[in-house]
Amino acid sequence: MSSNPLSSWHTVAIDKTLKELSSNKDAGLSSQQVSERLQQYGPNELEETGGRSPWSIFIDQFTNIMLLMLMGVAIISGFLDLKSNTFPKDAIAIFAIVILNGILGYLQESKAEKALAALKNLSSPLVRVVRDGKTSEIAAKDVVPGDIMLLEAGVKIAADARLIEASNLQVRESALTGEALPVTKQAEIELAADASLGDRLNLIFQGTEVVQGRAKSIVTNTGMQTELGKIAAMIQSVETEPTPLQKRMGQLANVLVSGAMILVLIVVIGGMISFQNGNIGFDTSRFEELLKVSLSMAVAVVPEGLSAVVTVTLALGTKRMVKRNALIRKLPAVETLGSVTTICSDKTGTLTQNKMVVQRVHAGNSDVRIGGEGYAPIGIFTDRQKSTQINNLEEYPELESLLIACAVCNDAFLQHEQQEWTILGDPTEGALLSLAAKAGIYKDIQSQLLPRTAEFPFSSERKRMSVICELPGRSHNSGFPAHEGQQPNHLMLTKGSPELTLERCNWIIIGDRVQPLTQEMRDRILAENNDMASSGLRVLGFAYKLWETVPPSDSEETSEQDMIWLGLVSMLDAPRPEVREAVVKCRDAGIRVVMITGDHQLTAKAIAQDLGIASLGDRVLIGQELENLSQEELKQQVDQVSVYARVSPEHKLRIVQALQSLGKFVAMTGDGVNDAPALKQADIGIAMGITGTDVSKEASDMVLLDDNFATIVAAAEEGRVVYTNIRRFIKYILGSNIGEVLTIAAAPLMGLGGVPLTPLQILWMNLVTDGVPALALAVEPAEPNVMKRPPFSPRESIFARGMGSYMIRIGIIFAILTIAMMSWAYGYTHGATYQGDPNTWKTMVFTTLCLAQMGHAIAIRSNTQLTIELNPFTNIFVWGAVIVTTFLQLMLIYVPPLRAFFGTHYLSLFELMVCFGFSALMFIWIEMEKLFIRFYKRSR
Ligand code: ATP
Repeated sequence: MSSNPLSSWHTVAIDKTLKELSSNKDAGLSSQQVSERLQQYGPNELEETGGRSPWSIFIDQFTNIMLLMLMGVAIISGFLDLKSNTFPKDAIAIFAIVILNGILGYLQESKAEKALAALKNLSSPLVRVVRDGKTSEIAAKDVVPGDIMLLEAGVKIAADARLIEASNLQVRESALTGEALPVTKQAEIELAADASLGDRLNLIFQGTEVVQGRAKSIVTNTGMQTELGKIAAMIQSVETEPTPLQKRMGQLANVLVSGAMILVLIVVIGGMISFQNGNIGFDTSRFEELLKVSLSMAVAVVPEGLSAVVTVTLALGTKRMVKRNALIRKLPAVETLGSVTTICSDKTGTLTQNKMVVQRVHAGNSDVRIGGEGYAPIGIFTDRQKSTQINNLEEYPELESLLIACAVCNDAFLQHEQQEWTILGDPTEGALLSLAAKAGIYKDIQSQLLPRTAEFPFSSERKRMSVICELPGRSHNSGFPAHEGQQPNHLMLTKGSPELTLERCNWIIIGDRVQPLTQEMRDRILAENNDMASSGLRVLGFAYKLWETVPPSDSEETSEQDMIWLGLVSMLDAPRPEVREAVVKCRDAGIRVVMITGDHQLTAKAIAQDLGIASLGDRVLIGQELENLSQEELKQQVDQVSVYARVSPEHKLRIVQALQSLGKFVAMTGDGVNDAPALKQADIGIAMGITGTDVSKEASDMVLLDDNFATIVAAAEEGRVVYTNIRRFIKYILGSNIGEVLTIAAAPLMGLGGVPLTPLQILWMNLVTDGVPALALAVEPAEPNVMKRPPFSPRESIFARGMGSYMIRIGIIFAILTIAMMSWAYGYTHGATYQGDPNTWKTMVFTTLCLAQMGHAIAIRSNTQLTIELNPFTNIFVWGAVIVTTFLQLMLIYVPPLRAFFGTHYLSLFELMVCFGFSALMFIWIEMEKLFIRFYKRSR
C-alpha cells in the first residue's frame, strides 16, 4: 500500500483507491489492519506549531505596565541607596519580586494553556467509521488511512479522504482554500492530475465542514500528511481572549500607574516648594526624602497581586463548571454567564431526555398503541378501536408498509451491546427502528431487499427526508402499491413533519389500494396529529412514491410532491426531571426561559406547560408567522412569547437579535450546522456536547457535556459566584491600597520624620498579606441568595453598586485607624523613657496595616451576614490564610535575619497588643456597618 504523499487521489477511481488502500467499502478495515496502520502512520493529529512559545509567554509577563513601573522604582531606589553608600536592598528585593512574579505568571499561564489543551481534547470530535463490518464512533485521532468514514451535515472532516458515495454533499472549504461558499462534491468522477485543491470535487479535506448532505468516503491521508497538515497547522483551539473584567483590569492598571506617576510628581515638587519672605522657592534639600516617600506611595497604589488572583479565580471557575458538565470554550463566558437575562433553549434533548419511545401509530384506518420501554425491540401492539392485541400484520397491510418505511427511511443503527439496547444516530430514528423491530422488521434485512440508490437528506429547514431504493423484481404487491398501469423500478420513502409531508400527498394507501386523499381524510389526519401532539408526543408523517427511474439529485422540491400518504407515528420524549426545578430557579434569579423548537406547536406547548416555561393561555409563535413579521414587529413581541415552534435555524438568529435589541443578555442553545450564526450572535452561545455538530461546537462559548438545560442554570450560578468573588477581592485589595497610600502620605504631613513603610514592606503586604487571603476569598462558596436576585449587567463598571464608595470608605477608615495608631506610636517611641529603637513606630504601622487586613478578610466574606452567622467551615481557606499570614508577619518581626532584611524592629508584647487592638477595630467597624445596613433596611 502506498501512502501517496503526492496526494493525487483525485485522479484515481474509487475501486482502485479501495484496492490501493486495501480496504473494503462495506466492511472497512479489520482491527488488525487498524492497529498496524496506527503503528505505521501514528495518530491522526496535527503537530502544534501554532500558539505562543514558552519564551514569548515568559517575556509577556514583563510587559505588564505595573511591573515596568516597579522596575523603574527599583532602579531609582537602588541609585539613591548606592549614592548614600547603603546596600540597595529594596532595589534587589523589588527586582527579585518582579522576576518571581514573572516566573509565577509564566507557570500559571503555561498551566492554563495546558488546561485549555485538555479541554480541547474533551471537546474533540468523534468520527463515524465502518470497521470490521460494523459502524462505530471513534476519536478523530484514531482514524487511519483506509478507514471508511461516514459523513453528514455539521461534521468537521477529520482526515483527507476520497469520496465513495455522496448525496447532496456540500462542503465549506474556507479553512483550506479561503473560499466562503460551500462546494458541491461528487464521488463518481476522476480528475486531471493538475486540478487545483479547490477543484478536487471527489476529495474531501481535513478541517473543512460538511454543510449539507451525506457521504461515504475512504480516508487517504491522516495527521501531518493531510493538506491541512501540509500547509502547517491551523489548529482548532479553545480561545483565550481576555474577559471583559480582565480588559477593564488592564485599563484600571493604566489609571493606577498614571495616578501613581502624578502622585510622585505632586509629592516631590509640592514638597519642595517653600515660601520665604513672600517669595516662592524650591527647597531641594528635601528632594531625596520626598522621592523616597513618593516611591513608596507609587508601590502602594499598585495592586501587584490582583491580576494573578483574577486569573486563578477564572481558572477555578472553569474547573468547577466542567465538574457540573459545562465546558467553557471562551474564557469571558465564565464571568458573563452570571449576567444572562434570557435563556433560549432547544426542546429535544435539552429540555427533554431525547430517549424516544413510540407510543402510537396511525396507518390507514387503524389506530395502534405500542407497548414497551426504551429502545428494546420488545412490545405489544394493540388495536385501539378493537382493544385487541395485534398478532398478524397481514391483517394490517398499511401498518406493515409504514413499519418497513420506518426501517428503511432511516440512518440510525439499533445495537445490542452488553445486554443493553442502544442506538447510534438520531434518537427519533432509533425509536423508529425499535418500533419496526418489535414487529420483526429489521433494517439490515430490509435494506438488502430495498437497496438505497439515492436520498434527499434531512435538514431542519426542510423538516423531512427521503430515501430512494431499488425495487428489484418486486411485484406489484411489495407493500407499496402503485397507481394503475404504473411499472415502477424505484421506491421513494419520505418522512418528516406531518403537516409538511401531508401537504405533498394527493393519495393515501388504504388496505392494499391507493386512493385519492380527500379533504375529509386530510382533516382527520391533521386532527389525529393535533390530538397526539397536544399530549406532548412528537409526531412524524410518512409517505411514499414510486418511480420508473431515479429522480435527479437536487430535485427534492419537485420530487417530493404528489406522494402517497402512509400514516403517522408518535413518540414520547419525556421531559428531563431536573428541568422543572431549574426553571423555577431561573424565575427566582430573574432569568426568562424561552423554548425554541423545530417541533409542532402543540407538542412544544404541552411540554413547555409541563415544565413551567409557559402558562395555560400563553401564546406560541410559529416559524411561518415569524417569517411574516418585520424585525421591528418581532422586537415588540419577543417579550411576550415563551415558545417558538416549527422554527428554522435562521429564525433563531432573528429571535436573538430582537431580544438583544431590547437590551437582553441572551444565552442560546443550538446543535445543527445552521445554528452557528445564532450561536455566534448570542451573548453566550451554547452547543450540545452529545448531539451537537462540530460546527455548532466551534461557534459556541460553552458546550453542555450532558446536553442538559439544568446544566446551563448551574453554569449561570457558578458565573454569578465567580463574579461576586472577583468583586469581593478587588474591594478587599484596593481598599487596603488606599489605606496604605493615605498613611504614607500622612507621615511627612504630620511632620513625622521618614517614610513609615519601605517599598519592600509594601510589596510584602500587597503580594503576601493581601494576596494570600484574596486567593482564599476567590473560593468563597455561593451566598444563599445568589440565585434569588436579578442578574447584573455585564456592562456595569467594576465600581458599580457601591463598590467604589466601599473602597474609598474602607480605605479612609483604614487610614484613620493606622494614622491614629501611628501618631500614638510615634509619640510613645520618642518618649523620654522609651528604651527601644525610636524607629519602632514604623514597624507598628506596618504590622497594624497587615493585621487590619486579616480582620477585613474575615469580615468581607459576606456583605450581609455577620461573621458569627457564617459557618466557618464553608471556607476554611480564609481562616487558614489568615493564620498563615499572621504567622509570617510575626516571623518578619521576631526572626532576626528576616528582621534585618525587611528593615523591621523588634516589638514588645505590649506594642504587639496595641497593633492587634487597633487592627481589631477594622473588623468591628465592618461588622457594625453590616448591622447598620440591616437596621436601616428594616426601618424603611
Ligand atoms: P429542537 O429544535 O427542540 O431540537 P427538533 O428536534 O424537533 O426540536 P429539528 O431537529 O429541527 O428540531 O426537527 C424539526 C422537525 O423535523 C421535527 O419536529 C420533525 O417533525 C422533523 N424531523 C426530526 N427528525 C427527523 C428525521 N430524522 N427525519 C425526518 N424528519 C425529522
